Amino acid sequence: MKKRILITGGAGFLGSQLCEKLLNENHEVICLDNYFTGQKENITHLLKNPYFELIRHDVTMPFFIEVDEIYNLACPASPIHYQYNPIKTIKTSVMGAINMLGLAKRIKAKILQASTSEVYGDPEVHPQTESYWGNVNPIGERSCYDEGKRCAESLFVNYHKQNDVKIKIIRIFNTYGPKMHPNDGRVVSNFIMQALQNKDITIFGNGTQTRSFCYVDDLLDGLVRMMGTDDSVIGPINMGNPNEFSMNELASLVIKLTDSKSKLIYLPLPSDDPLQRKPDIAKAKEILDWEPKIDLEEGLKETIKYFKKFVI
Ligand code: NAD
Ligand code: UDP
Repeated sequence: MKKRILITGGAGFLGSQLCEKLLNENHEVICLDNYFTGQKENITHLLKNPYFELIRHDVTMPFFIEVDEIYNLACPASPIHYQYNPIKTIKTSVMGAINMLGLAKRIKAKILQASTSEVYGDPEVHPQTESYWGNVNPIGERSCYDEGKRCAESLFVNYHKQNDVKIKIIRIFNTYGPKMHPNDGRVVSNFIMQALQNKDITIFGNGTQTRSFCYVDDLLDGLVRMMGTDDSVIGPINMGNPNEFSMNELASLVIKLTDSKSKLIYLPLPSDDPLQRKPDIAKAKEILDWEPKIDLEEGLKETIKYFKKFVI
């Protein structure tokens, strides 16, 4: 059945690919974005589709529309971008959630929240299960994002309990792929852009900190599966690739795949940078029959292909 679907943050990395995926599945898509970190170029190719609509809007302001489903993705995701204006980041997460939940309540739409592994902070439990409450510094550099997203989760569960809103919470772990902004500042885009230009690869700290990288196609498949579950499934559910890599390993792999002459340089580790991160995805496997299929090398090859167009 054709559904009308609102995607906030629809011009960003994940949002733009989700717009395209849902249009390909024959739905009607409304993309809402204020273009803080998203770009029109990510979605201009969709404008010729009569079932695609683009709206410039900031989620901190109320918004009215009639839709069946809402994917709430609006929020800068890269540390340099969410720390650029921390108060705005908190407003986007919290007021954005209130506005979108209010909308979902009024129009009885299903709403999915793009939460994050950052709700676990610098985790003392490894791998991270959904039952772990996290280790977040409430006054640190990352708190605008971490606490904003934690508050949004609280708003979601309380709108569900108090107002019967049909919610879905997904905790996304580091996801990468084409359509990431080349200057986004996240590690995969930084390393690939540096390697393609034979510039120094900037490793923060000693490079032994770990992340688990999920390719965008796998992640989007999981988000859509979650939206398709019955109303009793609300999450939170972790979504990510459980294969864990150190930043040194990631740098070596990117250098190998780009055949680069780049050297590694070591810069100070930003404060509160989590030392290790790896999702326990047992819940996603059991409830959504989901697990990632694309390994890091395969996903990086696709991503490198995309980034080559930004390098002269
Ligand atoms: P992104 O920065 O590419 O996309 C975010 C989009 O939201 C951008 O288009 C931006 O312009 C828009 N936006 C920001 N503030 C807004 C506002 N106030 N009003 C309207 N639009 C606004 O990041 P992404 O990687 O695509 O992330 C999408 C969502 O997924 C975010 O909510 C992020 O927190 C979450 N997430 C992503 C990852 C990841 O690894 N990619 C991991 C965990 C969570
Ligand atoms: N990082 C790095 N070099 C960079 C960018 C990031 O070594 O040029 C490290 C960063 O310190 C962190 C990891 O890579 O330990 C992942 O960073 P990213 O900003 O991609 O996402 P995070 O998971 O920290 O939100």
